[in-house]
Amino acid sequence: MTSPRATPVTTLRPAPTPALGPARAATALRRLPATGPAVADPQALVELTDLVSRGGVLALTGAGMSTDSGIPDYRGPDGKRRVTPMTIEEFRSGSPGRQRYWSRAYVGWSRFRAAAPNAGHRALARLEQAGLLEGVITQNVDGLHQSAGSRAVRELHGTLTRVVCLACGARVDRDRLQAALTRLNPGFADAAQGMGTIRPDGDVELAPELVEQFRIARCEDCGSDMLKPDVVYFGESVPRPLVQECFEAVEEASGLVVFGSSLAVMSGLRFVRRAAALGRPVAIVTRGPSRGDDLCTVRVDAELGQVLPQLADDLTGPSTAD
Ligand SMILES: [Zn+2]
Repeated sequence: MTSPRATPVTTLRPAPTPALGPARAATALRRLPATGPAVADPQALVELTDLVSRGGVLALTGAGMSTDSGIPDYRGPDGKRRVTPMTIEEFRSGSPGRQRYWSRAYVGWSRFRAAAPNAGHRALARLEQAGLLEGVITQNVDGLHQSAGSRAVRELHGTLTRVVCLACGARVDRDRLQAALTRLNPGFADAAQGMGTIRPDGDVELAPELVEQFRIARCEDCGSDMLKPDVVYFGESVPRPLVQECFEAVEEASGLVVFGSSLAVMSGLRFVRRAAALGRPVAIVTRGPSRGDDLCTVRVDAELGQVLPQLADDLTGPSTAD
């Protein structure tokens, strides 16, 4: 596939910022570990700002968007997977699989629920309100774009804030299920306190003997215990109509900007490919390599927490909230 390029591809090499001055910047860079914060190429930032300033752009966001909110990425900046997510096969394999999932998700939920949108989420919401951003396609399941005020959000991988019954299709709010699980498992949260660390899918590692005690809830409509968070699991496909809707949004957009994704999975990469095939400018703002690097017109290897608020300030005026 060839991609017409509106602007030359910029280098990934971190460049000193004018504010630091070359000598101090060089010292700062030497002090940083290889995976530490990168200093963005100023030219790439100018091109990114120019792209977004034209209006009508679409954002595609990934896990890197929410790491500043305390939700860790599945993959490090090197692109390697740090945790193995549960698959749909494990989930469907029987009640023990679901017991394992829900016990851990039950404990993780209060911490996951407490995560607040970060400056990057708020910056995207400001760009949408200013009429520069058409909307967000997100691979995240945390609902933080909506919490930050973004309105046109397409959740490619679903949301953890809802639960679906695999037997009858009924959907229920996650908080309602959490309350039911608390009634079924009094004292469980206390027993699990301090255990494990939160994972990107919102659950926590627990001792097997504790998991075995957990009682899973049943569907209020049909009584089945086939309750699943309303997210697209590894091994599942994104619903076809949603994919189509996202393709149409890409086709209507003036450009596509990826924030915080290595585009390791096809669910997001295909939109970058479509935008590039249509000759639309594509910018990728993320730490480390991405699978879209040969398709993009602008590449910024830097922290979203720095780039996004600055972008929104430059284009909409300084924020009072950040
Ligand atoms: Zn049901």
